[in-house]
Amino acid sequence: MSIPLQAGLVYGPVKSRRLGVSLGVNLAPDARKVCTFNCAYCQYGWTPPDPLGASVVDENWPTPDSIAEAVDQALARTSGIDRITLAGNGEPTLHPDFHDIVERLRLVRNRRARYARLAILSNASTLADASVAAALMRLDERYMKLDAGDDVTLRKLNGCGMGIEAIVEGLRRLPDVTLQALFTRDAQGKIDNTTEAAIGAWLTAVVRIRPTAVHVYTIDRDPAWKELQKVPREELQQIAAKVKQAGIRAVVF
Ligand code: SF4
Repeated sequence: MSIPLQAGLVYGPVKSRRLGVSLGVNLAPDARKVCTFNCAYCQYGWTPPDPLGASVVDENWPTPDSIAEAVDQALARTSGIDRITLAGNGEPTLHPDFHDIVERLRLVRNRRARYARLAILSNASTLADASVAAALMRLDERYMKLDAGDDVTLRKLNGCGMGIEAIVEGLRRLPDVTLQALFTRDAQGKIDNTTEAAIGAWLTAVVRIRPTAVHVYTIDRDPAWKELQKVPREELQQIAAKVKQAGIRAVVF
């Protein structure tokens, strides 16, 4: 079973190897998953049909005020937070007031938890929007998804209708990016981003982007498509070694 959607605006703190002690912030409306991607490995299950058409104008998006207030209250009762991470039920940059939310959260963080980094987990599909790109640069850390370097793998694994070129170009323009790359496959090879060709194309994209670092990992929770399998750690290390050979920092989680 996939994990339940986050019910509130704030969740955790969650402790993870990648992000330390992180307070999660969910910007999606009404405990719904809203995402431009439909990743076969998504821990929140499949993306509902046409979530964007209905949701971008949905009046139930949480307001910047309510989000800032929820984070403020959570920080008032919690200490030892390493990060405040925008993530939650889907793609956080889809919130129509994303830029305003980032500015509000910077103020809350500065007042309540100066030591905490303001971070995001994003699928990098909205970077053509200048307001989103500008807001992302106001965050301390950008963890951006890149599991594929070719259109076919992007479509099969991430359920994304965009071309890979637009995603790579958006990431190239963004400074100081950490790429998050998940590797998985099924027994029949219907979805597989670990083939030589898929990894070769992905590596070419990584080299073009020149990220600060690449986080390499595999599925950890039940995926939306149950046939997907974990990739052995040795294989992940081989993938990371190729990234390091290109002079880019890579860490296996
Ligand atoms: S981008 Fe994230 S939230 Fe969206 S479908 Fe993929 S894994 Fe799920």
